[in-house]
Amino acid sequence: MSGGPAITLKSQPIDGNNGNSGNAAAQQQQTANNAAAAASSSSSSQASSGTVPPAQEGTRQSSLQRIQLRKQKVFNLPEAQKLAKLSMYSACQFEGCRCTGWKTPQENRHRDVESSYCPEPTEECRNASCRHPLRSHISHLTEISRSSMDELLGAIIDMENLFMSMQRVEDEDTKKVYLYLFRLLRQCVLTRQQAVIRGPLGDPPFESPCITKAVLSLVFYKYNHLNPTELQTMTEVAKTFLNFLNHYNFESPSARRGDPTLTHEDASTYKINYTRWLVFCHVPAFCNSLRQFETSLVFGRTLLRTVFQYMSQQLKKKCISERDRFPEDKRSIITQMPKFLEALRAELLKDDSPIWDSTYRPPNSFVVQQRKRHQEVAPPATISSAGAAAPSGSKRSSVGEPAHKRVKKEVAERVTT
Ligand SMILES: [Zn+2]
Ligand SMILES: [Zn+2]
Repeated sequence: MSGGPAITLKSQPIDGNNGNSGNAAAQQQQTANNAAAAASSSSSSQASSGTVPPAQEGTRQSSLQRIQLRKQKVFNLPEAQKLAKLSMYSACQFEGCRCTGWKTPQENRHRDVESSYCPEPTEECRNASCRHPLRSHISHLTEISRSSMDELLGAIIDMENLFMSMQRVEDEDTKKVYLYLFRLLRQCVLTRQQAVIRGPLGDPPFESPCITKAVLSLVFYKYNHLNPTELQTMTEVAKTFLNFLNHYNFESPSARRGDPTLTHEDASTYKINYTRWLVFCHVPAFCNSLRQFETSLVFGRTLLRTVFQYMSQQLKKKCISERDRFPEDKRSIITQMPKFLEALRAELLKDDSPIWDSTYRPPNSFVVQQRKRHQEVAPPATISSAGAAAPSGSKRSSVGEPAHKRVKKEVAERVTT
């Protein structure tokens, strides 16, 4: 989680298939975050297609900013309001009561606790089985530090965003993953535990060597004989490629059904990797309560093989369409890209390629030089899937889940599969 100490309680895995326990709990999802109809329709098509047309890229960038702004706004609310927000996702502390969130009175359901609505601590919970005051849902929270409180609120906002994303996603596999993560966050908020993903997906990194390492090995292996300027260009080409990959929206497995380049085995491997990518790379980009990993650092040859053909076509197209936007001194990146992609493709197909051998190491002098350059040179002009150059140091410039235009809306009373 960003900022503040971690919520230090023991972590507990949540089984996404387990429909009972804490989830019976999600009785009241008072979700404040909603996507405007227009945005939601564009996002669902976007989630299932690999790339994002330029017009939507700004939307994705600004949706991340909107999420941050909303969080900041909530962090700045008066404490009573923050506690009211928390109460809606916190278990009633009354002995024997199983209510897991304070429920707003009917007449106030349209009001937003993130703006001017602040129920009294004595206000009764409208869950029929509870009826205890709001106070009893937060009595265990009044002593927590400000940063822990903000962290919990951040997780709540992530959870609400995830819920809205889940509504918009059309692909069933993707929807299931969103539901799993939603429940995980819901449970984390309820128990004040750090979100930890455990289970059959395994832990990142999933392959060795990772794509970043192999791609930088390729630069040495193929281009070390070039003069320093040319070598520098190829290094930047490689980094541009990695950046593109790290912002790439992978196609859902169902969208790739019938893809002649995928064998049956490839398809099932792809499905696993796609799920891993959603859980560890993609969703955490807009839900920072979840730990985010960089695609190129946790995946290796297997993933790249299954996406390379389509992805490299997209990248080539992007290079052509963005050519004129590139500064003069960076144009060589564009012109060298097809050559680089061809070399990488050849090494992906070769079973004995040294760059995918985990023991392969370019000489130290080369690695040191690369690192030095990496520090000296500003990040290369990006042809990310997000289009616009990412501000230096920014973690990520795009997400697949745009549009969190605030429209107060009560979402499902209870979330079920
Ligand atoms: Zn209650
Ligand atoms: Zn109660």
